[in-house]
This record gives sequence, C-alpha cells and structure tokens, in this order.
Amino acid sequence: MPLKIYNTLTKQKAEFLPQNPPVVKMYTCGVTVYDQCHLGHARSLYIFDVIRRYLKYRGYDVQFVRNITDVDDKIINKAQEQKKTSQQVASENIASYDRDLEALGIARADQEPKATDDIPDMIQHIQGLAQKGFAYPIDGDVYFDVRKFKDYGRLSGQSIDQMLEAVRIEKDSKKKDPLDFALWKKSKPGEPSWASPWGEGRPGWHIECSSMSMKHLKTQTLDIHAGGRDLVFPHHENEIAQSEALTGKPFSRYWIHHGLLTINGQKMAKSLGNFITVQEAISQYGVDNLKLFFLSSHYASPIDFTEEKILEAQKARRHFVEFMDKVHGWSAYPGQPMVPVSDDDFGKVDAAVAAFTAAMDDDFNTPQALAAMFHLVDWGSVLISAGKEEAFRYALLRLSELFGLLGLEVKTAQELPEELRELVRQREAAKKNKDFTRADALRQEMRSRFHLAAVDTVSGITFIELEWKKRMRHAN
Ligand SMILES: [Zn+2]
Repeated sequence: MPLKIYNTLTKQKAEFLPQNPPVVKMYTCGVTVYDQCHLGHARSLYIFDVIRRYLKYRGYDVQFVRNITDVDDKIINKAQEQKKTSQQVASENIASYDRDLEALGIARADQEPKATDDIPDMIQHIQGLAQKGFAYPIDGDVYFDVRKFKDYGRLSGQSIDQMLEAVRIEKDSKKKDPLDFALWKKSKPGEPSWASPWGEGRPGWHIECSSMSMKHLKTQTLDIHAGGRDLVFPHHENEIAQSEALTGKPFSRYWIHHGLLTINGQKMAKSLGNFITVQEAISQYGVDNLKLFFLSSHYASPIDFTEEKILEAQKARRHFVEFMDKVHGWSAYPGQPMVPVSDDDFGKVDAAVAAFTAAMDDDFNTPQALAAMFHLVDWGSVLISAGKEEAFRYALLRLSELFGLLGLEVKTAQELPEELRELVRQREAAKKNKDFTRADALRQEMRSRFHLAAVDTVSGITFIELEWKKRMRHAN
C-alpha cells in the first residue's frame, strides 16, 4: 500500500512521491527563540519527529533540516524588556530548547541552521529577487512585490481581498501594496544589524526559511515543508512567493500542517495563566504520557489539552506496561510442557502490525495506529493466558519495535533494577536447562531480595507481581 499524505497545497490526500526516491528532503520551521518552549511546541516537534521516523522506517533516506530563528522582532522586543542583548535572549532560549529536545527524546535534525549564520545567503536571495523585479527597496527596507507573483494565495486558498482583510494595513506605509512584505528591514539604533547593499539591517522572518531550506537541503524543490497551521498565511505563502519567484521551480512538493493546541478549550497565553512550558509538562505528566496524548489525535486536527485526556494517556501507557510486565514476569511451572504454537498465533501478531502500518500510511493516522497497538496487546494477552510463550514473546518484540518507531520509552525492563534483571536472566537460563531446583531457588531469592508481592497462579501460569509496581499503581 502506498503512503498517502494530505497536501495543503493541493488540498488533497495523495500518494507520496518524492523527487528522487529514496531521498526525502524535509524542512520544518523551527522555533523563534524569544521564550521557553511550551506544550504547543512539544506537539509540533514530536509529531514531525514521528513523521520523520516513520519515513525512515518506510525505507526513505530522510534529510531533515529544522532551523532556529534567532533574529526577529519578538527577540528584539524581549531583549529591550529584559535589558539584555538580542544575542543573550537568543542563546538563553536556545539552551533551554536544547534541554527540551533532550528531555523529550526528539531526534536532532541533520542540520539546525541559525538564521544569523546565513545572512549572506539571504542577502543574495533578496538581490536575486530585486534583479528579477520581484523586490523593491525603499529607504533601507526591501519589500516583496506580491502583485507580481501570480500564484500568491494558492497555499492558503484565499483571494487577494481575503488576504487583505487578514493583514494589518499600516497608515504611513511606504509599501506599494498592503500585502507586500519585508524581505529586509533597516535596523534602528541598538538593534542587531548586518551590512547589505541597502544599508545596515536584518532579514525579514519569511526569507530566512526560504533561504535556509534551499541552502541546507541543497535543492530548489523540497519534498516536504512542514509547520503549524498558523503559519500557512502569511509565512508559508510568503516563503513560496520568494522562493518560486527566484527559482521558477515549485518550492515544495508537499506541505504538511499540524493543528493547533488549546488548553481546556482556550488558546494558551501567559496572560490567561494557562501557559505550560515543556519542562513543566514533562515533570508533571511524564514524556510518554505527553506523547501518547499527542498521538491520540490526528496531527492535522486541533488538540485540546485537558486533565481527562492526560488521564486517558496514562491509562493507555499502563495498559502497555502491564502487558510487558506480564511477559517479563511470566514463567511456566516446573516441568510444564511447552504449549505448541500455531501459524495463526504469529499471524495475528503480524496482522496487528500491518494494521499499524496501514494506519500510518494513511496520512500518519496515529489514533488508528494506537488502536492497532492495543489489538496487538490484547492478542498478546490471549497468548499469555494460553501459555504460548514463543508467540507472546514475539508479540512483545513487535510491540517494542513500534514503541521505538513512535519514540516511546515504554519498557518495563528499564524500570526493573539491574540486579533483578540479572536474576530474571539467570532464572530463564536455569529453566531452559531444566534445572528447576536452581530456578526455584532464584525465584525465592527474587522474592526475598526485591520484596515481590506475590507469585500469582492463573490457569497454571505464573505471574510475578512486583511490590514496586503495586506502589506505582497506587501512586497513579
Ligand atoms: Zn518558516
């Protein structure tokens, strides 16, 4: 089955066909480092991390660039507010962003260019646009002449009039048209600035992405350009105009946009007191629970963060952990004969994994993919009850593969102390060698040293209930 992606540009879900398979050149608009990252950023970073991982899993050679905007009006305003330099504000927030990525377990992009490192490329890009008649300078600023670019509005599907309503019309503007946007801004005293053919200044936000994506992906046509829904207009519309006006080629084959996050139905804002930073969210809810919460909605849909939804995510995680505990804790009775396993036992495991892949192939439908994982767990539990060891261990193996694919850390083995894991290994070896006296002695040792609550026996199968797990369950 082919992988299908909903493309904002064509407003259709269509087969994903990169320009030069298996290479996929993917760019996402990164953060503007004027503040700490919040829960909305975490969703954006994580969802695109999942898409990137899945493309790799599907055999694509993904080249991924995620920029950092470290020169911008918001940074300059913050610096003035805090009586710092723009560089100080940017570097503090980059450090915090790095910590967030690390804590969330989001893979680093292949390249993470900072806007301030690529200013000469942006100047060159603007010069090219001016030569082609798409840009005009006025008093040290340079604007893009929107009326010259006939496809303007295609991505956001708006008419010029609709777009005019959306932009703020400045009274004393020197622009030819209210929709024209700044490619280069003359700097005021005290602002970060670079020398250019139009005098001291700095790049506009939109040109940064056009220039950095093409430069670092070494192409004029990206395969995937991704970002938040709020960036469609004007940011991405402007990126297309600037890039295509210069190169005459399509800027990106696919445009992917994630929906926005609200908190209890409200937009997140410091003024509303519902602003949750990534660090706060992690310490309060845990990384896996946040990720399961994000996966529970399709990436393109809006997502509302509520206490109830995070409880559902916790429940989902516990469901996985319990299954893994059962597998790890499972041991046959001494002398119990091996239960024969049929092709169907394995086949149903594979079918659940195939359902997962089919869901992900359908525009990365993560809620459906999660449902397939629950089917896998349910079937695995049936296999455990039947004592079909080979088959349920296989189920666990496939499940772990999917956890890895989604960047989830759900692993019980990780939560077990190393000495206990060693005893489990020794006991498994003893059982394999039919040394049941030793296996029994090891079980006694595990029980006494690690205060195992009980050894439950359900239809002849032994489960180990760990005291620490019981405690966790009560704590939750
Ligand atoms: Zn961008």
